[in-house]
Amino acid sequence: MTCRCPDLDALPESPNRDWARRAIALLQGDGRRSADTHLVNPVFRGLREIKVYLKDESTHPTASLKHRLARSLFLYGICNGRIRQGTTLVEASSGSTAVSEAYFANLLDLPFIAVMPRSTSPAKIAAIERFGGRCHFVDRADEVYATAERIARDADGCYLDQFTNAERATDWRGNNNIAESIFGQMEGEPAPVPEWVVMSAGTGGTSATIGRYIRYRNLATRLCVVDVENSAFYDAWHRNDPGVTASGSRIEGIGRPRVEPSFIPGVIDHMIRVPDAASIAAAHVLSERLFRRVGGSTGTNFFGLLWIAASMLREGRGGSLVTLICDSGDRYAHTYYDTGWLRANGLDIDPWRDMIETFLDTGHWAGAPL
Ligand SMILES: *Cc1c(COP(=O)(O)O)cnc(C)c1O
Repeated sequence: MTCRCPDLDALPESPNRDWARRAIALLQGDGRRSADTHLVNPVFRGLREIKVYLKDESTHPTASLKHRLARSLFLYGICNGRIRQGTTLVEASSGSTAVSEAYFANLLDLPFIAVMPRSTSPAKIAAIERFGGRCHFVDRADEVYATAERIARDADGCYLDQFTNAERATDWRGNNNIAESIFGQMEGEPAPVPEWVVMSAGTGGTSATIGRYIRYRNLATRLCVVDVENSAFYDAWHRNDPGVTASGSRIEGIGRPRVEPSFIPGVIDHMIRVPDAASIAAAHVLSERLFRRVGGSTGTNFFGLLWIAASMLREGRGGSLVTLICDSGDRYAHTYYDTGWLRANGLDIDPWRDMIETFLDTGHWAGAPL
């Protein structure tokens, strides 16, 4: 009897696999050459036994927490065979993600198109273009999704879709994700397991990663997500209704017109909504205390953290509280740090500033209940 086998062929060349291996090596190199980001611990006397830790994500090569996300989205796309040599990449963004993705697209020599609201800060637009990316503008924040999808389809490209893929592209169990980094850096501290981690939501990916990691590691830490004005997340979480929509946030990077698929409500222990004037005031105060400017969403985070600290102080409790410095305030010199812009937007931050300063120095919380 003879064995009937398929003919022996020359095995195929795999130029795409060769490209993918070179691409992964470049992405791994970017991680290997970077040190971990700082976990800073400023001293606020008024807070007594409550210690504040700020994970400083503004020191990545592209100056925001989106550096981690962009790297994960690229790895995810390449490992799933969707990003190949020459693939045109398209993203819907309020700016920071597009800056980081433009950086990685440039590293891998791939065309990149960012779809963003016209109001995106000029510093972010300049950064995207300097990395060789192109910007496509839309008038309303909720137009970015469909436009990005269409441009990607027309170019036979890949829509990176951070708002859907952020939670799944990040390996939440570890692999040096932001949660593993934070809890690792906390290990030698007097109160190593934080009472609360406080984080705002844009894609919702960071809060999803932190919330899942807390459960996975079986920690007692709780997660508070802080939302802003004109964002869908807060009402959606409180009403348990993912269909909520809103008009779109003024705090770049956070607050969304719809509940993004990467927002995972089940891992959140508490949510609060912070007025925009309080977010910006908190960014100003923190910038002065750290001797460098932080972005608006960092102000939201910091105000949320102080709100929790005030409740803990009232109950006579101490412990560690952690939040993030999401990006640098240098990108917002013409908005949150410009008195003319604040006035034109009807934002009076001075009463909030005074209230925050007093709280940090004396522990006296003079705010009305949120
Ligand atoms: C994206 C972003 C956030 C929120 O992070 P997510 O993981 O997308 O929820 C906060 N601040 C800034 C500046 C951002 O760009």
